[in-house]
Amino acid sequence: MPSNQIELFPWNTNFETGIASIDEQHKNLFSLINKLANALVYDKQLHVSTIFDELADYARYHFAEEERVWQQYFEQDSWSELHKGNHESFVPEIIRLQRSMKSVGWHEATEQILHFLIRWLLLHILNEDKKMGLVLNALSKGTLDLNQAKIEAEAALVGEHGTLTDTILNMYFELSSHAIELIREKNRRIVAEKELKALNDKLQQLAVTDELSGLFNRRYFMMMTQEALLRAKVENSYLSFISLDLDNFKHLNDTLGHARGDEAIIHFSHVLTSMFCRKNDFIFRMGGDEFLVVVCCAEHQQVIEISEQVRSSLEQQCLIDSSSSSAITTSIGVFTHIPEENEDFMYFMERADQLLYKAKEQGRNCVLSVLE
Ligand code: GH3
Ligand code: MG
Repeated sequence: MPSNQIELFPWNTNFETGIASIDEQHKNLFSLINKLANALVYDKQLHVSTIFDELADYARYHFAEEERVWQQYFEQDSWSELHKGNHESFVPEIIRLQRSMKSVGWHEATEQILHFLIRWLLLHILNEDKKMGLVLNALSKGTLDLNQAKIEAEAALVGEHGTLTDTILNMYFELSSHAIELIREKNRRIVAEKELKALNDKLQQLAVTDELSGLFNRRYFMMMTQEALLRAKVENSYLSFISLDLDNFKHLNDTLGHARGDEAIIHFSHVLTSMFCRKNDFIFRMGGDEFLVVVCCAEHQQVIEISEQVRSSLEQQCLIDSSSSSAITTSIGVFTHIPEENEDFMYFMERADQLLYKAKEQGRNCVLSVLE
């Protein structure tokens, strides 16, 4: 049984009938009931019906085997007939219980089913199978005939044994009810912890995300850039900072309204995420219409090509009347360099920003770059 599974109904040597094959099958039934108990208390609704089917199949097989063994000794006998009748009622009862789960609540049904199964199995083993085992044992010695063996077996299992059976059954139910509640409590805690973790992850994600664009925010830029810089220093690899700013954005806001301005920011963010899409590309909205992309371990030429695609994509989108002098385009500064020991991220930022300003000066809608 897996370590996170609880053995709600433990097997006990007192349940042995003395016939090895039958005992083995009873143990398998216990194991299936434990499996079902775990699926029920852990709310694994998907597994439950498979285990129900497995249990019904195995019970059918076990009953046929058991009847075959008993039949050799109890041919045309009332005990054998009674035993067979009890077997016949089991599988339909399981199917009925399984169906009833839909009408009563899940938790109530769980308890009903487990109590039925374990009561049925224990009574079946302790009252019938054990008694028949005693008869078989007496017959095998050859000193008694069937009727005498039955009387002796009956006598051996009444009185103190009968009281004991009731006591054991009651204790079993009380313990299993507590165990079910404990496992449910544990399960509730696991679910609550999972929800808390998901909420925490979400909060952490929100803390580093720009609300409008869904890109990383400036706060995350300060956190991750140190790391990217350190790695580039250790690996002696290129680091590129790409500074981008929309051209004539104020005009869009003024003429078409703030909402259209927001749409343009969202649209531009999608362009950026679709083009800078490698694992080592980090895109930030630094504020207003200013964006920054940090690219680790890429060739300068490749970074220029992607930046050019971003520029050209926006130019072709015509977010505002492109024939007017105030078309929405983007100016881009690309700075690529292997960082020296004494350089910090501000150096990269300043160099990329200088290139961006130059691009604005040169008439906007262009990419200026330096590889150092
Ligand atoms: P330039 O071509 O020189 O870049 O000029 P510009 O018109 O693009 O103006 P600039 O970049 O200097 O200013 C950006 C404007 O973006 C100023 C501000 O009103 C506006 N803005 C800042 N944040 C937001 C926002 O979240 N939504 C919208 N719609 N506008 C914003
Ligand atoms: Mg601008």
